Amino acid sequence: MSAAVHMTDPGPDGRFGDFGGRFIPESLVPACLEVEQAFRSAWADPVFRGRLDDLLRDYAGRPTPVTEAKRLSEELGVRILLKREDLTHTGSHKINNVLGQGLLTLQMGKTRMLAETGAGQHGVASATAAALFGLECVVYMGEVDTERQELNVFRMRLLGAEVRPVRSGSRTLKDAVNEALRDWVATVEHTHYCIGSVMGPHPFPWMVRELQSVVGHEAREQCRALLGGADPDLVLACVGGGSNAAGTFAGFVETGADLVGVEAAGGAAMDRGIPGILHGMRSYLLQDEWGQILEAESISAGLDYPGIGPEHSYLGDSGRARYAQASDDEVLDALQLLARTEGIIPALEPAHALAWLVGATRRGEVEAGSTVLMTLSGRGDKDAETVMGLLK
Ligand SMILES: *Cc1c(COP(=O)(O)O)cnc(C)c1O
Repeated sequence: MSAAVHMTDPGPDGRFGDFGGRFIPESLVPACLEVEQAFRSAWADPVFRGRLDDLLRDYAGRPTPVTEAKRLSEELGVRILLKREDLTHTGSHKINNVLGQGLLTLQMGKTRMLAETGAGQHGVASATAAALFGLECVVYMGEVDTERQELNVFRMRLLGAEVRPVRSGSRTLKDAVNEALRDWVATVEHTHYCIGSVMGPHPFPWMVRELQSVVGHEAREQCRALLGGADPDLVLACVGGGSNAAGTFAGFVETGADLVGVEAAGGAAMDRGIPGILHGMRSYLLQDEWGQILEAESISAGLDYPGIGPEHSYLGDSGRARYAQASDDEVLDALQLLARTEGIIPALEPAHALAWLVGATRRGEVEAGSTVLMTLSGRGDKDAETVMGLLK
């Protein structure tokens, strides 16, 4: 299998093998074509790229460091390097995507930005970018999530965004996406829908991967400096929709590194899903025998999406990446382990990646002495209350 065929431009139909595509109502086709064309020319334009790079540096705080996790490494018997997206402005990798799509919104001459959010992180990031660029911002959020993440709702409002609680379906992320798409159909002339992960219709999975690839490209250079020119043996990230993992993998897909994405056990679309169509894309989805979408369940609102980005479906089927799971209990243990060995409280999402690594090293599935690059996608402040409740 040639590594070179992976993570390239999927072309005008937006297919990653059998996955991806653009399964949307007729009324949204021109909007998606407009976004694709605008992104294609912006991404090839040194002026746009320069403006984005300036914002990533001066506003978001890039490049983020890679931290050698010495005490954790000793504990697990492997050499662990952490890519520190928790240290960005707003505290997660999501800022990389929204600065790119915010700039693109201006480029397209639009004045309003829509976003969906689960844990609230993408909503806060979108509200942040909208404030920075002077855009109107509406965030759709499942009612259940607004209750679980009250503080993030407040943050979005402080930043000037309107938060609309979604009361349909399971009242979580998947329903918020449906509502945002519905809004976009009616407002497309002046509105951009800023999708928060590598999901949705083409060009979003490709565009969001490209905007997040800064994580992987920086990390590869930083690893080479730390490892005397070598690449890590294993590259690890958590997967909700899959944007921090896709951005991370993009930097290493051409190396010999083993790529592992870790889903929540209760939302493991790659393990228990069946290919189907949702939110404009074909991908692995949790569904029953009649094709009804099942609810994902996890302690982490950011991982409770019943599908996975289409490129991950392809990377998994082709064997270039593999996907594993971590349970809620393992995740809580891993979060405390990182806090106590390194003084870093991670978000619950990246604690899934660490939880898998802890189990895999104990089971002997990862060779002792291996080098591991793990993306720490966000900081744990937003989850402190949830964790406090679970540890009582
Ligand atoms: C949103 C979020 C995730 C999950 O999203 P991906 O698109 O899979 O990266 C993971 N970690 C953090 C900290 C998040 O906020």
